[in-house]
Amino acid sequence: MIIQDVGQQHLTRIQPTTEGIRTWRTYLKEYQFNKKYPDDAYVWLTCILALEAVGVGNFGVGCILINNQGDILAQGHNKIFHPYFRSDRHAEMVVMDDFEDAHPEPSGLGAYSLYTSLEPCPMCLVRLSTSGINKILFAAPDVSGGMVHRMNNLPPFWFELAQGKIFSQAQCSPDLVHAATQILLLNLNELTTEVKVRQRKVSVSI
Ligand SMILES: [Zn+2]
Repeated sequence: MIIQDVGQQHLTRIQPTTEGIRTWRTYLKEYQFNKKYPDDAYVWLTCILALEAVGVGNFGVGCILINNQGDILAQGHNKIFHPYFRSDRHAEMVVMDDFEDAHPEPSGLGAYSLYTSLEPCPMCLVRLSTSGINKILFAAPDVSGGMVHRMNNLPPFWFELAQGKIFSQAQCSPDLVHAATQILLLNLNELTTEVKVRQRKVSVSI
């Protein structure tokens, strides 16, 4: 299936339960790929998956894994809260779990690319460094939580493992970088508060 169809299918499943979701759903539905940017279509799809995550009450981050032909091998979004609380279910983890469970002995991983709507956090960067995938591209920089711009602060073992791999911002239109950022912000504060309230509840019950 071509990427436009995959994206449009996801868009039809997103319920416009808030004004923000409605606005970005329409924007992504009508978005025209910008031929100047080779990663535009892939980043567009990660933004749609991010919006889908927001729609079901998760953090707005989406992710896909493609092979060197551009075929989508795995796709997913953040699942920290829904269907149930799982602290490790970042979009990249969801995609890599699905892919690795389905392909216990993959070949040609070095030619695959992983796209994510947000700069990977330390946990995901370390996991991706171990995965065998050599190219990890993100749309929106994450100044406060992203690890790619802080690679030099990795412990030496992980720093060495990450060497020779591409971790960088995707070549997509600035409009999609903006979309990825705004979609994340739709429920970021609300869900961050929920995580903190949950932490307090758990520590009280222990
Ligand atoms: Zn992460």
